[in-house]
Parts: sequence; structure tokens; C-alpha cells
Amino acid sequence: MALLELTDVSVEYGRIRAISEISISVDVGEIVTLVGANGAGKTTTMRAISGIRPLSNGKIRFEGDDVTKLRADLRVVRGISQVPEGRGCFPGMTVAENLDMGAYARKDRRKLGPDFDHVYELFPRLQERRTQTAGTLSGGEQQMLAIGRALMSRPKLLLLDEPSMGLAPMIVAQIFDILRAINETGVTVLLVEQNAAKALAIADRGYVLETGSVALTGPGRALLEDERVRAVYLGGEVASEPPPPHKG
Ligand code: ATP
Repeated sequence: MALLELTDVSVEYGRIRAISEISISVDVGEIVTLVGANGAGKTTTMRAISGIRPLSNGKIRFEGDDVTKLRADLRVVRGISQVPEGRGCFPGMTVAENLDMGAYARKDRRKLGPDFDHVYELFPRLQERRTQTAGTLSGGEQQMLAIGRALMSRPKLLLLDEPSMGLAPMIVAQIFDILRAINETGVTVLLVEQNAAKALAIADRGYVLETGSVALTGPGRALLEDERVRAVYLGGEVASEPPPPHKG
């Protein structure tokens, strides 16, 4: 079943058309990734889904309902939560206060104990640093905090914009492992990445965006092995875990 469905979505900044008639879908329980070069339209697509940018054309459905014109804050209430590019943590607030902010749209704000426990279980570093201000955290810890904060709204769909940006490979690997763990708890994930190799390796399906349009789509593994994707986005690098050889 489709949790999220974009049909012919276009977004313009003034006279610049950033994305043009994009159609993508994300099924319940999937990890889907949007990959593409700088300026391909990945962030704009995320903003359209979270409701930060209005559409100039097209439709967005969530759980079958038309949310094209729904306000961004009401989309959070519906279950769409975005981890923005650049993380957007509040530097002067503590880790715990930042997490608390993530629950602003919840009606049951008095019952956040289990949610804090869940986030601290996923990210023990955040528990250790819960009384520290976010501004004192490392880049990787801030990314963890941004993800934790998004989880505090109990999303059905988690949108992540370039979580690997500026982080060391070991931290990126940790973040991707945690995304998989979050997905296994039943949260559907839509991940935007320039790090196409990593993103396609964990994704059920992927979309390759080129200058505002969908150029290719398919299972993550298949895209990872696609000659065109390899040549353009992976610098010809071989997939880290090759598929098992055919028997017989
Ligand atoms: P990046 O990886 O650099 O974030 P992206 O794939 O996310 O790239 P977008 O940021 O969505 O791409 O940009 C898509 C197009 O829209 C680009 O041509 C960009 O220059 C343009 N664009 C993005 N934001 C604005 C803006 N605020 N005003 C005008 N043009 C914009």
C-alpha cells in the first residue's frame, strides 16, 4: 500500500522550475531513496512533501488522502516528519530540550517518557549528553539529535535530507545502521542523499533525479549495479557487497 504518493509534482522558485512533474511513491514499511547530483531537485522534493514549499502543479497523497494544500505543521500531526538538511538543532538548548521540541505537535505531551527512552536506546550518546547544549555536540551527534527529535513526533514517514553530509565514513555507517533499525520498528523512510552508494545499498527502491525530473527508478540493488548510475554517481566504483552468484 502506498503511504506517500506524488503525482506530476512541480515546484518553482520564481521563474525557476526546480522540479518538473515528479511522480514517486513510497509504500508502507519501505526505505526509499532519492539520489542525484547537486541541484537535481532532491531538497525541493522533500520541501514539497513536508509542506514548506507550495506546488505549482501536481498532487501529494498521504495514506490515500490529498494533503497537497495541508499546512506543514498539520502534516507533522498526520505523521510526516522531516530531518532537515543541515540538521537544524537549536544550539543553545540542551539535548533533552531539543528532543522535547520534536514533540510540539503531540496532543499527549505529558506522556513522553517512553519516547525519550526509545530515542536514548537508539542513540546512547544522546542520553550521556542530555544536559549538554546542542551547540557543543559533534556533527555526528547533532545528526543523531536531529533524527531523535524527528522521532519524538512518532512519525509514520521519516524524511531525511542528506544525513551523511560532512560526516566521517564511520559515523555515516552508524547513522545508516540506525536508519535501518528505525525502519525495522515500522517507520517508513524517505532518504535524500548525494552519497548514492550508501543510500542505494540500504534502500528497497530508489529514484535517480536529474535536473528536476526522475531519470531512473528501480530496486536499490539494481540501481547500484546499473552502468549509468555507476558511471555518473558512483565514479564507476563497484558495489561494496556484490550479489550472491547464481547457482546451477
Ligand atoms: P543539493 O544537493 O545542492 O541540495 P538538490 O538536489 O537538493 O541539491 P535543490 O536544492 O532542490 O537540489 O535545487 C533544485 C534547483 O532549484 C536548483 O537549480 C537550484 O538552484 C534551485 N533552487 C533551489 N532553492 C532555490 C531558491 N531558494 N531560490 C531559487 N532557486 C532555488
